[in-house]
Amino acid sequence: MKSLSERDQKHLWHPLTQHKLHPKMLGIVKAKGAVLVDEHGKEYIDGISSWYTSVYGHCNDAIIAKVYAQMQQLDQVVFSGFTHEPAIALSEALISLLPQNQEKLFFSDNGSTATEIGIKMALQYHHNLGKKRSVLLAFEDGFHGDTFGAMSVSGLSVYNGPFEDYFIDVKRIPVPTEDNLGSLLHELENTMDLDAVAGFIYEPLVQGAAAMKMHKAEHLEKILKVVKSHGVLTIADEVMTGFGKTGRYFASDHMTEKPDIICMSKALTAGMLPMAVTSCTQKVYDAFYSDDIAKGLFHGHTYTANPLACAAALAGIELLTSEEIQKNIGRIIQWHQKFDAEIKDHPKVAATRQTGIIYALDLDVVMERYGNVRDKLFQHFMGSGVFLRPLGNTIYISAPYIITKDEMQRIYDSIREVLEKF
Ligand SMILES: *Cc1c(COP(=O)(O)O)cnc(C)c1O
Repeated sequence: MKSLSERDQKHLWHPLTQHKLHPKMLGIVKAKGAVLVDEHGKEYIDGISSWYTSVYGHCNDAIIAKVYAQMQQLDQVVFSGFTHEPAIALSEALISLLPQNQEKLFFSDNGSTATEIGIKMALQYHHNLGKKRSVLLAFEDGFHGDTFGAMSVSGLSVYNGPFEDYFIDVKRIPVPTEDNLGSLLHELENTMDLDAVAGFIYEPLVQGAAAMKMHKAEHLEKILKVVKSHGVLTIADEVMTGFGKTGRYFASDHMTEKPDIICMSKALTAGMLPMAVTSCTQKVYDAFYSDDIAKGLFHGHTYTANPLACAAALAGIELLTSEEIQKNIGRIIQWHQKFDAEIKDHPKVAATRQTGIIYALDLDVVMERYGNVRDKLFQHFMGSGVFLRPLGNTIYISAPYIITKDEMQRIYDSIREVLEKF
């Protein structure tokens, strides 16, 4: 019988892949807790929670039970003109979890649509109020997804050349640091025309795709204050940072200045089903609330608020707010701190950083053969039964909250081996 890897090549076209250079995919047959199992029976510890989704562990029994029960009750129904218990219960649970100023939820299917909707909300908000604001503000090296609006605001879109002519008008600012904060605030206040800016979209505290680049809450807070004072809507892209990863429910919880709009996906549905939510304040919603039908937000996806995905999200929130998961998050934060103290002065370590359960280290390696280093690292980790996905010379961990101490130790050991071997 042919392997999954061989059968795959006939009809499948994978994301973010140049198939001529990387023709072979690894067949995965099963997952449980923090462990993935491949078609040869080899096990891997999922050190990145399958792109930050499966934070309560794969095939979590509590989530399966709730989704299964929902499957027998109501599977799918149009969300325009109809509503249902799972969406309503989820709205109640999410609103009590989100920063206090959030009031309304708009559903979609993935992180890109969540930010796309946030962008459309910001643009149409000003349009509905009769103001011309057509520019968006975003961080350099930000990543917000692969649809057109999301690509436009993503500074990291290195392979988006064919589409750039069609992008939205975006102004970019660097992420704040101790060194640039003063000049950055000065530029925002004095040289930039913030009154033409509809919205500022940002990944709060951690820029995932930019190799877990981190900035300080107090610095971001200052930027938010300035742009808000000019009527710019703030859009927190919490697709990666949401649901506990920074040690709080949301990265925005680390600041007193709250965003007008929040984008969520990834861990929202605990890695079980695809779904996204864009939340906003009453003020944003009110700008669309009108006798004029054209002032509504005419955006909708067929599977909007799918009851099964809502059930998975509800089960996930129940776990997130449990004492056990909160305790687990706390201990992972401590494990990382201890590991960091051990390795940060190693000659091969150029820099380390941590926000909540996200830990990253930059290797001090020659970067001229960028791709090669990354591929060699990846192969080393997979060989040692650890699924980590280095970005350039950055190795990062964003493991499921339920990971055991032994499993985390195996991730650390595998990184220690890199420091000795490379
Ligand atoms: C992954 C990600 C997205 C895009 O989400 P998709 O579900 O892959 O479309 C957007 N923003 C951030 C911060 C992300 O990490």
